[in-house]
Amino acid sequence: MNALAATSRNFRQASRLLGLDSKLEKSLLIPFREIKVECTIPRDDGTLASYVGFRVQHDNARGPMKGGIRYHPEVDPDEVNALAQLMTWKTAVADIPYGGAKGGIGCSPGELSNSELERLTRVFTQKIHDLIGTHTDVPAPDMGTNSQTMAWILDEYSKFHGHSPAIVTGKPIDLGGSLGRDAATGRGVVFATEALLAEHGKSISGLSFVIQGFGNVGSWAAQILHEKGGKIIAIGDATGAIENPDGIDIPALMRHKNEGGVLKDFKGANAVDMKELLVHECDVLIPCALGGVLHRENAADVKAKYIIEAANHPTDPEADEILSKKGVIILPDIYANAGGVIVSYFEWVQNIQGFMWDEEKVNMELQRYMTGAFKNIKSMCKTHDCNLRMGAFTLGVNRVARATLLRGWEA
Ligand code: GLU
Repeated sequence: MNALAATSRNFRQASRLLGLDSKLEKSLLIPFREIKVECTIPRDDGTLASYVGFRVQHDNARGPMKGGIRYHPEVDPDEVNALAQLMTWKTAVADIPYGGAKGGIGCSPGELSNSELERLTRVFTQKIHDLIGTHTDVPAPDMGTNSQTMAWILDEYSKFHGHSPAIVTGKPIDLGGSLGRDAATGRGVVFATEALLAEHGKSISGLSFVIQGFGNVGSWAAQILHEKGGKIIAIGDATGAIENPDGIDIPALMRHKNEGGVLKDFKGANAVDMKELLVHECDVLIPCALGGVLHRENAADVKAKYIIEAANHPTDPEADEILSKKGVIILPDIYANAGGVIVSYFEWVQNIQGFMWDEEKVNMELQRYMTGAFKNIKSMCKTHDCNLRMGAFTLGVNRVARATLLRGWEA
């Protein structure tokens, strides 16, 4: 099932549990605005290359629309639409005053030079600058983009609208970025994991973890889990996967990565088949990469007791059903990976206030939001007698529905 069908299905299920009116349900599902633009740039060799860029602004009932911009070959309108919708529910679950949006360009960032990426980002910004804004729609990094991408968007946007630091979050610190933003999604994943484990009388220390994805989210989650005594027994990314039943030395692996090394060449672990990673024996599995990685074919073989969805939409609905029958507890994406957008909110607040917080305050507030959201999800689970995914969906959808109704329908 594609990401849009799966996300909409979860939404409809939540809407039924909440007893929403069918007209309201329909209006919440249709995106506020979908933008599709052509982006042509000269490559470094002088030839022209054209790419398609998207921005889907899903809902703004609770505040400015918020969400990342993804550079990946698989970016397509349906996927961006699904991810934008997930952002609407995610910001509502986190209880930050935003709606949801998502953008992307169908390209392979690894095959473009830095100056080609800069040109592409600037052309994309020129095409959408009138439709985004500090109080309208605020982009951020996502897969394949980073703080440098945000710096280019900020610079290009400011040529049209004057200096506007709050137009993007996830910026470099020197341009008004927040301390702690880079680590925020990974740190939030760890706070979410702690909240779930505590409920089951467990803690990170002594448990075994498998992490799929070693980009921004996976590497920060691995480092923080390791600091807290978690044993990372396997980890993988697009270049390969490795395992060590005694626990991988994560600081050594980070040094290896920072020196440009790939996972499979790391000395302190054995190579393992990528497909095996998700069904590896462990207590906690954390998918941190692409969507749809847990599906009908592999779900029955998953051995983890807990799955923390650090990626967006890693579990398709068929896998969801198989896993829940097996008794696997899944912490859903719209809660588990909300740390990034929560600290984006802190960054935006700091930009608007013109006052910078220290990292301790950022991390403390992040923990407060993550723990608070978990309590609210659990209370929805109790009210609606449902699992954590539906607890999170009913929490988010209900908040957006209430804001929509309060605003009214008069044209
Ligand atoms: N791209 C991240 C997400 O999917 C962060 C979005 C943001 O900070 O606006 O949640």
